[in-house]
This record gives sequence, structure tokens and C-alpha cells, in this order.
Amino acid sequence: MQSLTIGVDLGGTNLRIAAYTPDCGIVNSTTLPTRLVAGPLAVVDDMCSVVRRLLAESEEGRNFVGIGVGSPGPLELPVGRLHHPPNLPGWDEFHLRGEIEKRLEMPISIESDANAAALAEYELGLGKLLGVDSLCMLTMGTGIGNGIILNGELWHGAAGMGGEAGHMTIDPDGHLCGCGNTGCLESSASATAVVNAAERLIKARKAPGLVRLKNGRNSLTALDIAEAARQGDPDATNIFEMTGRALGTGLAGLINILNLPLYVIGGGVANSWDILSPSLFDELERRSYVYSLTAPGRPASSGMPGGGTQVLPAKLGAEAGILGACLLPFHEAKNGSGK
Ligand SMILES: [Zn+2]
Repeated sequence: MQSLTIGVDLGGTNLRIAAYTPDCGIVNSTTLPTRLVAGPLAVVDDMCSVVRRLLAESEEGRNFVGIGVGSPGPLELPVGRLHHPPNLPGWDEFHLRGEIEKRLEMPISIESDANAAALAEYELGLGKLLGVDSLCMLTMGTGIGNGIILNGELWHGAAGMGGEAGHMTIDPDGHLCGCGNTGCLESSASATAVVNAAERLIKARKAPGLVRLKNGRNSLTALDIAEAARQGDPDATNIFEMTGRALGTGLAGLINILNLPLYVIGGGVANSWDILSPSLFDELERRSYVYSLTAPGRPASSGMPGGGTQVLPAKLGAEAGILGACLLPFHEAKNGSGK
């Protein structure tokens, strides 16, 4: 009999819920707005009623394994409690696992959204393609999420908060981050950091091309700035070069510490890989001797799975989060919940 899971991708804007089978992938899905104004209990009510409906529509003739939930962090595991999640205002100390369990009597696997995305790339994306058993993924969107898989298992750390590479300091005098620190990778290389860098230049009237681009609009997006860079705007080009440098600096540290075969760059900013990656690889060569010795074709790469240290843009794109949530119950059945 086919196995079935229900995955929930809980975001600050949208709530996506999908029914999944390993043979067919996503067989049914619904996206609804996350009603942040109504409060966390109302959002969990919405979530659970869609889960029940999708399960009723998809369960016949299939073996239901459980529900997987990918949530913004910081998330304390295994209890499943949130602590000041910046993308879910008003959810501090919210016991997400407990509230779902109260409404649905079924097995629940819960992880940070970045861990869920890393699991999807591992099982269905680049990890599968390259045949590696470990990887580190950075999801570059509004913030920078991170998930680490070691020997086939998600790395949780002692309280579920391992893999927060978005908040490693890469510039001690850098910009303030949402976590309270200054100069985090997240405040230097996320989509928000790209937009902030452009806005600073526009405010100082230092970037005529970006001033023209902004003209009459409330705000720019990282995508607008990437397009300007591709069309040759020097300031936009410079912003992406700096973003690549920041990302390369952070990755160089991760590569030196972890020596994994695969580092995956996902999220919206990864769509700018063409303009981001030259300066990223420059920094890797300069700052990580582990990278320069183990990159594909280098002296110490021959025995490595995947052909050497691979740094690549994600394969699954925006689907990684929901697919990862759908995979969580299978992963937990195989490896336990990290307790
Ligand atoms: Zn931070």
C-alpha cells in the first residue's frame, strides 16, 4: 500500500499544506494566508481544519504515516516551542507542537523550516543527485536559514537550535541583525540586506541608476536590484558582489569546520547565482584552504563522495520547504525525533 503524509509549511505570509506520497509527490495541496492578526490559536485552527480535509480527500487506499510541520525558528526541540520568531510576531513561547496535538490525534514531526528545506534537498534534490550522506544548506530569503544533515540525520544540537549559521558574525562592525547581534551573515547577505544596501545608497544619492529604478515606488526588491545588475548598473553589480563576498566568507568558515561534500544555496537570492557566485568563489579560495584543497579536481578531492566539495544553487527552488515538511514523518520514522 502507498504511504501518505501531510506536510505543513508555516510561513509569516502563507500557510501551505500538502498531501504527499513517495511515488507521486504532492497529490493535493492548499495555500491560505497566515492570519497573523487573528493570533496563533486561530492560525493553528486554520491549519488543522485543512489537514483534516486533505487527509479525508487523500487517505483512501493509502497508509497514513503522519504530519510534518516546518516552522519559522527559533524552535525548541523536541518540545516544539517557539522563542521570539521574528517572522511570526506574537508567537513568543507558543507551544506549536502541543496546540497541534490538542486538535489532531495523529503523529506529528516538527522542524525549523530551514531544516525541512535541507531535508528535501538531501532526499529529493542535490543530495540525491550527487549521492552524498551529508550536506549544509543556506536558505537566503528575508533572513538566512540553515539546515545541516550529518550522516543522513538532521543535526539538532542540544535544544534543537543547531544550524543557525545565518547568525554567525562575519563583520563585527556590520549592520544590526534581527537577532540583536551586528554583522551576522543574515544582515549582510539576505534579500533584506540586498534591499537595505540599495536603500542606503539611494538615501545618500550615491547611486543614480538605483535612484531612477526606485522613482515613484514604495520599495525595491532584491529581484529588481538583480535585474539592474544584469543590465550593467554598477551600484547594483557592486551590491551583489558584496553579497557574494559576505556569503563566501560565511561559507568558508563552514567548510573549514565541517568538511562536508555539499553546500546548497537556496531561497530567493539563489536565483541571482550568476551575479553572486564569482565573488563567492573568490572568497572561498582565499579564506578556506579546506575548499582550495578539496574543490572538484583538486588534490584532496578524489576520495570524496560527490567528486569534491560542491557549492551549488538549490535544485528544488521554492518547493523545498513544503516537500521537506512532507518528508519529515518518514525521516522521523527512520531516525527518531532527535530526542
Ligand atoms: Zn543575527
